Amino acid sequence: MKKTVAVYPGSFDPITNGHLDILMRGLELFDKIIVAVAHNVEKKALFTVEERMALIRESIKGNDHVEVDNFDGLLVDYVKKVNARFVIRGLRAMSDFEYEFQMASMNRNLNRDMDTIFMMTSKDYFFISSRTIKEVASFNGCVSGLVPDIVEKKLKEKFALV
Ligand code: ADP
Repeated sequence: MKKTVAVYPGSFDPITNGHLDILMRGLELFDKIIVAVAHNVEKKALFTVEERMALIRESIKGNDHVEVDNFDGLLVDYVKKVNARFVIRGLRAMSDFEYEFQMASMNRNLNRDMDTIFMMTSKDYFFISSRTIKEVASFNGCVSGLVPDIVEKKLKEKFALV
């Protein structure tokens, strides 16, 4: 039987329980999901791509339906390279919609064979973004329950709060 592979791209700087929720729910739809960490030149990252990948790997705890990778350049090229057809993105609010709609339309314009599947955030995670997590953690605020334990630990180390 043909296995369906999807790519879940993003900055994941760092991965949060919101990302993990989308990932786990995505696995109900796809046989395999490749979490692809983007080398994003525009966003100044707290964690290196390697650190972000390591945090994702530790957070998925050896789930063999999930692969962790990184990519540079156009998402459509990466999706073609790994022989996938679907891209997963999460939606939190109307504000996400506009950007995501533009990106999905642009990507479809670049590659007709690619489709973006949107998954709605869960009620417990709609207010979580990597950016707010970093902000709160930088002031020693509690992010427990919003990110995997390993991420909480690494955030403390980054901000030298241990
Ligand atoms: P990007 O820099 O590409 O926006 P992010 O790492 O911020 O990447 O997010 C990757 C994907 O995960 C995006 O589609 C984003 O909307 C989604 N996402 C992030 N946080 C949440 C959340 N709390 N609930 C649902 N989806 C989320």
